[in-house]
Order: sequence, then structure tokens, then C-alpha cells
Amino acid sequence: METFDVAVIGAGPIGLTAANIIAKNGFSVCVLERRVKIGYPSHCSGLVSARFIEENSVKPELVLNTIKGAYLFADEELLSFKSEESRAFVINREKFDQSLAAEAQKNGVIIFTNSAVVSAKKRGTHSELYLQNGKAIKARSVIIASGAKSGVNRMFGFNDDESEVIYTIQTDMEVSLPDSESVYMYVDSSFAHNWFAWIIPIGRGLAHIGLGTDRTENIVDDLKKFFRSSEFTKDANVERLNLVGWIIPIGYAKKIVNGRVLRVGDAALQIKPFSGGGLYTGMKAARFAAEAVVKALKTENVSALNEYKSNVDREITPIVKRGLLLRRIYRSMSDRDKALFLKGLNNDEAKRIITESGDIDSPFFVGVKLLRFVGAPLMHYFKDLLVGINA
Ligand SMILES: Cc1cc2nc3c(=O)[nH]c(=O)nc-3n(C[C@H](O)[C@H](O)[C@H](O)COP(=O)(O)OP(=O)(O)OC[C@H]3O[C@@H](n4cnc5c(N)ncnc54)[C@H](O)[C@@H]3O)c2cc1C
Repeated sequence: METFDVAVIGAGPIGLTAANIIAKNGFSVCVLERRVKIGYPSHCSGLVSARFIEENSVKPELVLNTIKGAYLFADEELLSFKSEESRAFVINREKFDQSLAAEAQKNGVIIFTNSAVVSAKKRGTHSELYLQNGKAIKARSVIIASGAKSGVNRMFGFNDDESEVIYTIQTDMEVSLPDSESVYMYVDSSFAHNWFAWIIPIGRGLAHIGLGTDRTENIVDDLKKFFRSSEFTKDANVERLNLVGWIIPIGYAKKIVNGRVLRVGDAALQIKPFSGGGLYTGMKAARFAAEAVVKALKTENVSALNEYKSNVDREITPIVKRGLLLRRIYRSMSDRDKALFLKGLNNDEAKRIITESGDIDSPFFVGVKLLRFVGAPLMHYFKDLLVGINA
């Protein structure tokens, strides 16, 4: 049986980042990936902040589009704003994952594709991982980075999460938009129940178009309804589109280290609960996980792995918990009240705050600044937020 210092399960951006850092420190690392082609198909919209681009040294050729503004639709209301500068970027997720894989391989990481992990056994200080293709791998430490939709967590005793699931569907298609530097977001519970729908221009006249919902009804019917409701998509033929369905798990994972096993990224619910963005938080967590594993291997002291948990609790858990609070408020509001909220922001001062301080990684803080534009009839929704700020 082939033996490695570390086995990473999942060749998504989070697993590849962790693997790369560990290999650069001189340890043997393999990544086990169930798919045949890394990054494909992509379920993600790839919208990230300038901070993400900088922290992860994303190469310019992986950026598909620059975003400066947004059009937010709710009921009869439309709120639009635009900044002079870039506020977000759309990256090519397929190529991004592939570039991380190439970098990791350059540093010595062995990637096994078509290698789904189907079961695991602990043997003394090692874990044995059994693959669907009949092979097995032995490792001193395991990092679970298997994303949102896999049973790997349960194999290693991480089965106590309280999370809700958002079902998503997305396609890429040509669409004529009035402004290709803005995103278009739709709040409408008839097709995007307790979540939202989006059109995100990605350049060359194309856009990622999709929606999320917490209902388990036929999501393709929801997408058809969304297409009919938007002036930009109403004539498109949904039957002929290439659709990708996925899920976003929303919640907080208390346990992220179990013995010599760590979980990270979507597998550890390191996702912003208000927007579903998981790249910024996941990549940060991947670095913490890798650093803790390197320290544990170098010092032969397994308790160093707990530093991963304390770093996550300091830097990522607050983002997740604030996002859960925003999400609770969002869920409790009717479509009409969400529209009234947008109406309250439809003025120069509120738009100035949004364009100057709007940050897709920390919507909470701009939300707090905007509280003064909330009319008295809506204020009761935000009482938990006020308590949260003062706590
Ligand atoms: C519709 C949608 C839009 C999104 N848009 C954005 C966005 O705009 N910005 C943003 O920041 N985030 C976005 N996200 C979230 C983002 O895609 C995730 O947070 C990110 O992909 C998490 O990376 P990961 O490496 O943890 O998981 P993944 O990217 O899911 O990678 C996990 C890998 O593990 C593999 N795997 C699973 N099980 C096994 C197994 N048993 N054995 C071996 N391999 C396995 C999978 O095949 C996969 O390659 C979006 C998510 C969705 C659903």
C-alpha cells in the first residue's frame, strides 16, 4: 500500500491549496479526487473580492470579468449602484482549480484522479483510505476537503453538523445586459425561496445565470420561472441549456479536528451563510490547516493540529456566525419587506456607503452602517443585529 505523510481528499481549490503548502515544506502528499478532470464541471460563479485575488496571487489570465456595481431586484423595487473602481472579480473556476493542481504537482504533490474515497480505517498512527477503483492509500494525517456533497465526513466521525442546505442550479449563456460590469440579483421567493437568483456577466457577452432555493421541489421549474420573470432572459430556451446542479451547506461546524484528521472548506461549512461564497474563507482555512499539519509533522506532536481549530475560531468562525445572523434576518423577511428595505437604500447617501464600504467578504459591517436607512416598520427584524453589535 502506498504511504504518504498526508492524504488530502478532494482536489477542489481548498484541498489543492493545503496540499501544495504541505508539499512545499518537504512532506509527501497525495490528493485523492473522485472526478476524472479537475475543476470540471464547475458549479461555482467564481465571484471573489480584490482581497481574495491578492491573498491567493490569482493570475490576471484567470480573471474573466471585473465587477463595479449591482442591480438588486425585489418585488417592484430596483436598487442599483456602481463604483468607479472594481469591487469584485469573476474568476474562471475550472482554470483556477487546474492552475492550483499544476502548481501543487510542481511542488511534488501526487494527484490521483478517478479515485473516490469510499471508506477509511484507522490503524495505529495511520489512516488507511480505500478507493472506489480498488486501490488503497496509507497516510499519517488526512485532510478532508471533499466539498459539500460527499459522505467523507461521516467516515471520519464528523457527523454532528447542524446545517441547512441550499439547492442551486446554474448555466452559462449569452445574454444582452445593459451593463456588463454589474451583477444582477433577484429576490423572489416564488423561484428562489430563502435565497436569490443571479446573472453574473463573465465577458464575451456570456453570463453565469442561476438560483438557489431551500425548497426541494423541481428546481428546473424554478429556473424556468426565473427566466420568464427577467427581461434579460425571458426569451431563452431553458430546455437547451447545460445546467449544473449543486448544493451550498449553511451552518457552523463545531468539530473540525478529530485525532489526525482535519476537515476544511465546504466540508467544514466554511462558507459565508449570507451569500454562499466559500472561496475566501475556505482558502484561508486551507492555509491554517496546512500550517498545523506541517507543525504536527515537524514536531511529531499531534496536538499542534488543534492550532488549526483556534485559528479558524479566531478568523473564520466570526465571519460564519455574523453571516448566520444576517441569514436569519433575511429568512424572516417577506419579499415585500425586502423590497421596502431596498427602497430605504435608494438614496445618494446609502449608495455612497455601499459603493465606498461594500465588501463581499464582510457584508455584515456595511449592513450595520445601513441600519439608519431602515424605516421604523422594518426595524423589528434587526433587533438581533443590534444586540449582536453591542455584545
Ligand atoms: C452555485 C454556486 C455558486 C457559487 N459561487 C461562489 C462564488 O461566486 N464565490 C465563492 O467564493 N464561492 C462560491 N460558491 C462556493 C464555492 O464553490 C465553494 O465554497 C468551493 O468550491 C469550496 O471548495 P472545496 O475545495 O471545499 O470544495 P469543492 O470545490 O466542491 O471540491 C471538492 C472536491 O472533492 C471531490 N470529492 C468529493 N467527494 C470525494 C471522495 N469521496 N473522494 C475523492 N474526492 C471527492 C469533489 O469531486 C471535488 O473535486 C458557489 C457555490 C455554488 C453551489
